[in-house]
Amino acid sequence: MWRRTVRHLHAGNDPCVGASAGEKTGAYAVRHSRGTRGQSLPLHGVHAHFRSGYEGSAAKSCKMRADPADYKLVSPGNLPAVLSLLANEPAQWLPIAGGTDMMVLYSAGKLSNRRLINIWNIPELRQIEVFPDRICIGAGCTYTALRRHDLISAEFPLLATAASWTGGIANQNRGTLGGNIANASPAADSLPALLVYDAELTLVSVRGERRVDYRNFHTGYKQTVMAADELIRDISLPRRFYGYFSHTRKVGARNAQAISKVCLAALAEISSGTIRDVRIAMGSVAPVPLRLHETERVLSGKKIGPTVIDAARNCAVKEIRPIDDIRSTARYRAAVAGNLVAEFLEKLATEGAHV
Ligand SMILES: Cc1cc2nc3c(=O)[nH]c(=O)nc-3n(C[C@H](O)[C@H](O)[C@H](O)COP(=O)(O)OP(=O)(O)OC[C@H]3O[C@@H](n4cnc5c(N)ncnc54)[C@H](O)[C@@H]3O)c2cc1C
Repeated sequence: MWRRTVRHLHAGNDPCVGASAGEKTGAYAVRHSRGTRGQSLPLHGVHAHFRSGYEGSAAKSCKMRADPADYKLVSPGNLPAVLSLLANEPAQWLPIAGGTDMMVLYSAGKLSNRRLINIWNIPELRQIEVFPDRICIGAGCTYTALRRHDLISAEFPLLATAASWTGGIANQNRGTLGGNIANASPAADSLPALLVYDAELTLVSVRGERRVDYRNFHTGYKQTVMAADELIRDISLPRRFYGYFSHTRKVGARNAQAISKVCLAALAEISSGTIRDVRIAMGSVAPVPLRLHETERVLSGKKIGPTVIDAARNCAVKEIRPIDDIRSTARYRAAVAGNLVAEFLEKLATEGAHV
């Protein structure tokens, strides 16, 4: 049954695409610096040749390429001390939170920065504060903390679901939301949810703090507006999407432990069958996590029907900028992206009215 409902997303809608894929779906009816098209874009910063030490022999395949003696790790234990270190020796120190992205680079001998500041145990980065109009999530909160938070599950299900399918349990116990944002992979699972929820980041340094709309944070592939002496302290989400219909989908090679080939997070509010507000974002389809503004414009104020769904699908395919890489092809990504938008709208038409 489940297989039947997802099959149309793949080869069936593009006869030239035959790859099998794993998919995860979450549909909720709750109240309340370099990549360009055609180039190889390593997602998550993990290049194909990073994935093991394999060089033709079993002995070599087990070998770490980095030597711990070459690295220095300090644990200041509080935020002011971390910020001082970042300010006093600009670009010399790199924060390490859960280490789930950095240790991949380290073990591959690709972590060029040798001086690391442990921010895992900083209390200011681990809080989740609820206010009447917003929730403020410390950048050091893990996926497990996000999954277990009742208000996040109830009001921000797209984020809770993304947390639940980010890596495995061990990864969810260590990986942090701030690390996912700062790592700035276009394939990261939580980032489309942050786009549709209008997230705002607080960046801190010894110079003070500044607020940045998350939609302006990424400036290119793996590039952000964050300065070398800044940390992401928290992520703020306005509590105004309660009652929206929400739908999310991750399409990867397997059902677990897979990086997305394409992922979608979408929200909409409809009344009497007419779309009042719609928000669609995707990952793995451009150098940065992408909000599909043109597609949203096509849908805004319309009644959902086959013509509107086709127009939205076509617009989404034109709006994205997918590439061929080790995980997929641009053509497959485009076909799946269009189908994901169509699936969201079909579900919105049938389930969204009952939200
Ligand atoms: C086996 C495995 C499976 C994975 N599966 C997925 C997946 O399915 N989906 C997915 O999206 N990701 C996945 N990841 C990637 C990873 O888990 C996430 O990106 C995670 O959120 C990174 O957080 P971290 O705390 O471990 O970051 P770290 O590795 O500690 O740091 C990553 C980068 O962020 C910077 N950084 C960390 N915190 C801050 C901060 N507060 N302010 C400024 N900079 C900061 C660091 O300096 C570094 O550059 C996987 C990783 C592994 C190893």
